[in-house]
Amino acid sequence: MTMNKAVKVLNDAKIAYFSMEIGLKNEIPTYSGGLGILAGDVIRASGDLGLPLVGVSLVSRKGHFKQELDASGMQSEDMQLWSPEEYMTLLPEQINIRMSGRDVRVRAWLYEHKSLTEEKIPVILLDTDVEGNSPEDRSITDHLYGGDRRYRFKQEMILGIGGVRMLEEMGLHIRKYHMNEGHSSLLTVELLHMNGMDPEKVKDLCVFTTHTPVASGHDAFSYNLVQEVIGEGHDLEILRTYGGNSELNMTLLALNLSDYVNGVAKRHREISEKMFPGYKFNSITNGVHSYTWVCSHFRELYDRHLPGWANEPELLVRVKSVPNHEIWQAHMNAKKELIDLVNRKKGIGMDHHTLTIGFARRMTEYKRPTFIFSDLERLRKVNDRGDIQLIFAGKAHPSDTRGKAIINEIFGYIDELKDTIRISFLENYDMSLALKMVSGVDVWLNTPKRPFEASGTSGMKAAHNGVVNFSVPDGWWIEGCVPGVTGYSIGSRIDPGKSPEEIEAIERDDLYNKLEYNIVPKYYERRDEWVTMMKNSVEMIAYYFNCHRMMRRYATEAYLC
Ligand SMILES: *Cc1c(COP(=O)(O)O)cnc(C)c1O
Repeated sequence: MTMNKAVKVLNDAKIAYFSMEIGLKNEIPTYSGGLGILAGDVIRASGDLGLPLVGVSLVSRKGHFKQELDASGMQSEDMQLWSPEEYMTLLPEQINIRMSGRDVRVRAWLYEHKSLTEEKIPVILLDTDVEGNSPEDRSITDHLYGGDRRYRFKQEMILGIGGVRMLEEMGLHIRKYHMNEGHSSLLTVELLHMNGMDPEKVKDLCVFTTHTPVASGHDAFSYNLVQEVIGEGHDLEILRTYGGNSELNMTLLALNLSDYVNGVAKRHREISEKMFPGYKFNSITNGVHSYTWVCSHFRELYDRHLPGWANEPELLVRVKSVPNHEIWQAHMNAKKELIDLVNRKKGIGMDHHTLTIGFARRMTEYKRPTFIFSDLERLRKVNDRGDIQLIFAGKAHPSDTRGKAIINEIFGYIDELKDTIRISFLENYDMSLALKMVSGVDVWLNTPKRPFEASGTSGMKAAHNGVVNFSVPDGWWIEGCVPGVTGYSIGSRIDPGKSPEEIEAIERDDLYNKLEYNIVPKYYERRDEWVTMMKNSVEMIAYYFNCHRMMRRYATEAYLC
């Protein structure tokens, strides 16, 4: 790309969207999970809609890790080195940030996302691998979510403070700074300096989206550490004033200096208000970028029957005009691709016509990936009613020992059940595998412990491909589930007076009952009703839980005020 074109793309940018991780494309490993995929979908939908937005993130040169699993399911991690120069232009601007008594130079790469509508959205990836920086400082932007607390704090300084300085250095006029989670909230301190220390002016500039539904999950740093990095002085006082007195809480800092704050689902808003009494939260439920998350077989189908759907996903509301047999055929084509992939990799002879259940997401305790194995006798009984097969995928964060153990446990169940139920665990869950899985299974399972799932988005991707959701009513699914119509719920939404053990027992029972008495019989014996349910998923979920709707709401409710 020539510099002139790059400058032209940048000139239009007015809303700066900050995210620690961003899923721009499968080959660029600057994302870890749902948060980064959402950020990528924001860029893609903004492009389609022609919103004047610029993305800001870190270059993460060594990427999020690549997952390898041995025969027992023991995870090991490898770096995913990548070359920014293959996809991006190095910009001439550089800025400095003082950290631990040294000036750290920061440069930036420009990635241009080109949308279906030929609009371009610029994304700036910050990079400290600059000659003259000490080796330690050169590595600050290497690892996504790697390193210790000090390393993370420095990354957050680069993202928040460095991001604002870089946009200034480029001469961009930014009317709103949107923080996707609290990682970037140090940008508020920089904005205070630029606005005569007037918090009202800063609030007017800031939009904050929180994603964390539990108090312990919020990003926080000890003031000892903060002081070591930023030194004594005025900024420390500012942080204590707005970010908490005992420790620096990045969520609190963003909350105190943003006029518009939102949770990512209606339920998440309620929880956030309870967690932070006295603050006003809005809710804009997440969505996914429809075109990105529809497989080729359904794209072709929608193109024929619902032309224009990609840039107007509301049109999916008319999916009933597509004949059942065409929906089924498109689904079977997607399913064949996935099953063939599993058989190529694992050689376990999975069958194209067997009811296939998928579960893929970060492997961590609250997601309860082994929930479906809670009672193997009941699971075998389900399989007696009609054959099932299961496909899993997901990475455990390198320091999440419990998450790693969960993968081992799943491998144990695979072995234990191998004579009755075919189960496989696919390595290295990424955007490309995610699309294959959310379009290639029949049922998308999600069993998080309530209320830990702020929104969740993979079920929305599944619905876009006519895959039926079967989930605990948490996050977005509370809004998306019409029981027996758009999918199935597991357990109830509220259980007044019940202990966690009782709730778990109810959910377990309901999971097996629904599989045995609803899902399996409908799939095998009442195929027409099953296909109707697939269509309902598109008509009543995909038409709404998409990123076009989400970004239009951010535009009218958060950006234009
Ligand atoms: C969509 C997606 C996620 C988020 O999935 P959830 O079920 O919402 O947690 C995580 N990782 C990848 C690669 C995805 O595509």
